[in-house]
Amino acid sequence: MCDDRVVSTSHSHTADEYLMTIWLLAYPVGEYVPSRRGPQPTAAARIADQLGVSRASAGEMLKRLEGEGMVARGEKKEAILTEKGRIAAMRIVRRHRLVERLLTDVMGYDGAESHEKADGIDDGFDEEMVERLFEKLGRPERCPHGYPIDARHELRENPTLKPLTRLDEGDRATIVRLAEHDGELLRFFYDAGLVPGTEIELARVDTTMGVVTICVADETELVLTREQARGLYARPEGVPVVPADAACWRPRSATTPG
Ligand SMILES: [Zn+2]
Repeated sequence: MCDDRVVSTSHSHTADEYLMTIWLLAYPVGEYVPSRRGPQPTAAARIADQLGVSRASAGEMLKRLEGEGMVARGEKKEAILTEKGRIAAMRIVRRHRLVERLLTDVMGYDGAESHEKADGIDDGFDEEMVERLFEKLGRPERCPHGYPIDARHELRENPTLKPLTRLDEGDRATIVRLAEHDGELLRFFYDAGLVPGTEIELARVDTTMGVVTICVADETELVLTREQARGLYARPEGVPVVPADAACWRPRSATTPG
């Protein structure tokens, strides 16, 4: 756990933020088989690490979420989203991503600011407000960091993306999503111009130094640490774009039986 991150966290994490974190860890990018089988068990330590909290705090919240029927616990106490937890998480990520778009599109915040600010206010938006926001923003397909508003779209797209650490030398790819869990990392991506839609080529992988060099726009070379490269999810050249459904997933339709 990084101390800096704890200091920069100005509020304690809500149950919704935990569910959003578990959702992201449960459906990893670039994993073909697991993401089709359903949510992956998520170790409490990874949840604590992503949120920058102690394992004890994470354990307490997981106990609460278990009591609410949102997560089940595996043999090693890892968290597994139940069906109820899965639907709740889809609703939470959708709301979060739309509030981020409100912050960037209407209020003029940049992408790095929008994630953190959205964390503080998104639970104030009820379902009706979220739907109104969706329409007013012109039914956006993605949050500023490239995550689909429609969680089903996110799941369909996951297997087509790879973190930059999984690309080979000479591979070309388009950055689609930026990891959001670390505010400083997100800030770095924006400062370096590594935003969704950026085309890159993996120039060199240096396994001894643990860095990768990428070429942006065919000229600028950038050296990334493994941590930085791992937070950039890209679609390799030649892999077809997974389109969003015309009918975007709405929480209400998901709660109707069948
Ligand atoms: Zn986002």
